Amino acid sequence: MKYILVSGGVVSGVGKGIIASSTGLLLKTMGLTVTMVKIDPYINIDAGTMAPAEHGEVFVLDDGGEVDLDLGNYERYLNITLTREHNITTGKMYQHVIQAERRGDYLGKTVQIVPDLVNAIVDWIVRVARIPVDETQQTPDVCVIELGGTAGDMENAPFLEALRRLRRKVGRDNFLHLLVTLVPRIMNDEQKTKPTQAAMRAVLSTGLKPDLIACRCEVRLEKSTIDKVAASCDVEPADIIAVHNVKSTYYVPALLEEQGLLGSLSKPLQLNLLAITPEQA
Ligand code: ADP
Repeated sequence: MKYILVSGGVVSGVGKGIIASSTGLLLKTMGLTVTMVKIDPYINIDAGTMAPAEHGEVFVLDDGGEVDLDLGNYERYLNITLTREHNITTGKMYQHVIQAERRGDYLGKTVQIVPDLVNAIVDWIVRVARIPVDETQQTPDVCVIELGGTAGDMENAPFLEALRRLRRKVGRDNFLHLLVTLVPRIMNDEQKTKPTQAAMRAVLSTGLKPDLIACRCEVRLEKSTIDKVAASCDVEPADIIAVHNVKSTYYVPALLEEQGLLGSLSKPLQLNLLAITPEQA
């Protein structure tokens, strides 16, 4: 199983969900079976009780799970069927650990956020990633995990620690991290990279190290902006994906593909070895 973490820096609402869905879709075009997990760090058990005016519509899954809208995007982009377990929330994880504690599963020991909650998150992700999600009923090859919120949020901390442990558990060849940031423009249309640098620092302080950076900007990124982000964030210019505003979000997969995202993912994760060739299809 290969894991691709899509997390965000700077602010939410920059297009993490669309980038995660588009990444999954591109991997699917390689003949890979792809599943998706969404982590929402709020305490609600699920999105069913959340005001649509504030949170967006609730998406109802085939199993009746009332979940975040992003899972609807995943199902539409990838033509997959997810379960309520594919949407992890802080509330759901605490409920899971507290139920285990009440059953006596921890055998009297003190139950703590670290290691008990974070280990429960790791085990949950590993288990759910293996659930077949399409008509082939095959165990997926790749699991794209979208982490809601932004690095540095207090709510995100247990999840970032869990994802760091997951990376350690599965090894560097099986885990890749894509950080989505915002490149704002100021008065004279100058593209500012400081928020991306701050986001990178916040993520590095958790022990994770993003391999790729997707920079969302209203307009196309200038080459000087890409070079500056690369130099300050210690990644290669080729590992920076520029995502400008497009008329329809369905153009985003092509935008990522044009910039060689599949190559950037395939090489470190050795995805070519898993992909099926057209002759095999
Ligand atoms: P996040 O997951 O970071 O909260 P979303 O993926 O939900 O963000 O996107 C937030 C909003 O921005 C959505 O309405 C989405 O349609 C829009 N959006 C995302 N990417 C783009 C893009 N490249 N161009 C135009 N609109 C976009």
